[in-house]
Amino acid sequence: MKIVVIGSGFGGLSAACRLQAQGHEVLVLDKRDKPGGRAYVYEQDGFKFDGGPTIITAPYIVDDIFENAGKKREDYVEFVKLNPFYNIRFEDGSVFNYSDDEEDLLRQIKEFNEADLVGYEKLKAKAQETYEKAMPLIDKPFGKLTDMLKAAPDMIKVQAYRSVAGIVNSYLKDDRLRQAFSFHPLFLGGHPYKSSAMYTMVHRLEQEMGVWFTMGGTGALVKALVKLLQDCGGEIRQNQMVEEILIEEGTKKAKGVRLAGGEVIEADAVVCNADIGNTYLKMVPKKFRRWNSDFRMKNLKYSMSAFVMYVGTDKKYDNLAHHEIIMGPRYKELLDDIFQRKLLADDFSLYVYRPTKTDQSLAPEGCDAFYILSPVPNKKKGDIDWSVKAKEYRDSIVKYLEDMGYMPELSKHIISEHHIDPDHFEGELNSYRGSAFGVEPTLTQSAWFRPHNESEDIKGLYLVGAGTHPGAGVPGVLSSGKIVADMIGSSAAKPATKEPSLAGA
Ligand SMILES: Cc1cc2nc3c(=O)[nH]c(=O)nc-3n(C[C@H](O)[C@H](O)[C@H](O)COP(=O)(O)OP(=O)(O)OC[C@H]3O[C@@H](n4cnc5c(N)ncnc54)[C@H](O)[C@@H]3O)c2cc1C
Repeated sequence: MKIVVIGSGFGGLSAACRLQAQGHEVLVLDKRDKPGGRAYVYEQDGFKFDGGPTIITAPYIVDDIFENAGKKREDYVEFVKLNPFYNIRFEDGSVFNYSDDEEDLLRQIKEFNEADLVGYEKLKAKAQETYEKAMPLIDKPFGKLTDMLKAAPDMIKVQAYRSVAGIVNSYLKDDRLRQAFSFHPLFLGGHPYKSSAMYTMVHRLEQEMGVWFTMGGTGALVKALVKLLQDCGGEIRQNQMVEEILIEEGTKKAKGVRLAGGEVIEADAVVCNADIGNTYLKMVPKKFRRWNSDFRMKNLKYSMSAFVMYVGTDKKYDNLAHHEIIMGPRYKELLDDIFQRKLLADDFSLYVYRPTKTDQSLAPEGCDAFYILSPVPNKKKGDIDWSVKAKEYRDSIVKYLEDMGYMPELSKHIISEHHIDPDHFEGELNSYRGSAFGVEPTLTQSAWFRPHNESEDIKGLYLVGAGTHPGAGVPGVLSSGKIVADMIGSSAAKPATKEPSLAGA
């Protein structure tokens, strides 16, 4: 079959590589000038800044894409395991070195609050049970209610109806440990107090499989997948903005796409990796949508957005690890400001990424490449004018990092800089409400309740990426690509007999 994939994020690339390996004729179209979507790489002044994902978990999911095409991931890209996985810093000066060294974890828990040692053992057992039940579902479709009903007993058993923080807080008493073991949903765009307790499995996933870094930065993984696609005979074109998914009137079947310039590209199936809200609201005419109506799309809860500063410094900050989680003075209250009240607070919790701790190739010698991420409200309320606010917000982050002693004299040492904010997610990445992670991972927006990978409205239209099942994060979106490739299946595959015939019809 001729298959058009809209978007070259990890979800789109995963689907494209698998489908091409099955023998289909795949063409990937992306509106940006480089592939990767949120994993875009900003290159300036001798620095390479990964735009989005930095933490690689469940590397077997990546390896499987290469193996499925008869290749070895190691021949394309190198992963190295990090230690510590990340430092978690608190305002009282304490630091929790989070790793998979169990003995060291227990030693630190004891130092923070000895009484929590018993609670941690219980939390660990609970998270392990959840991991064992939920992880195998990551690459299984949840398009039918029966899929959900089959999984329901296990979900009830692991108390998926509770929140991650609800579970963690019931076992741990120390406020800092509660934060250290409950913040993970933020990596997936979730409020720890609202995200389904299924996500407690992330702790065990990290402990069992490690936290990894792609040498050369996450951009090297994007390049590796693009190369794999091309090695298998697939094609990718940048600067191709898809305006409409074309649908046959009578059969309601996807028949191709129309680009912004008017060019029509025909296809037997369309896989869409664009943001789910925008896909249905902007790219599929309303008359074809009953299930995915405007009402449904507008009433989904979308994740928070992010303000990300990319800075190159003329010195190295060796006091900082590869990943630093910097907790501010407030936790739940700040999260409520971001997710519910949609207020831009004066305080923040930050994630600081310093890949040059592990790989100096990303910055000139003697320099560090950083990104500093602050979760911020999405654009639902729309009262934050980022074109005005960004500079002030950036300055307050720099001052905070200096004042707290995390990055002394940062302002004097910045020699290269760029930032993105909710306007970027909305405008450049076409994400509804400027959300950074798509649909929020609450229980009522997970599994069968989450947008499905096969459109209910349009035959031959498949959906991958953060807003679809199973959800945001590299392992999730790569798995959505597998789900869709499995659905389309190799049975319909016909080896390409001529040069890709997808060019404008
Ligand atoms: C700042 C940040 C940090 C993150 N850190 C991590 C992390 O450390 N680990 C982790 O696992 N996850 C992380 N995530 C989450 C993870 O990056 C995302 O969930 C994942 O990369 C999203 O992939 P996707 O397949 O949904 O596609 P996206 O990356 O969203 O890509 C979609 C692509 O579609 C294209 N597109 C959209 N509309 C059109 C159109 N009409 N025509 C053509 N092309 C179009 C866009 O240009 C884009 O390239 C992070 C996310 C962010 C924002």
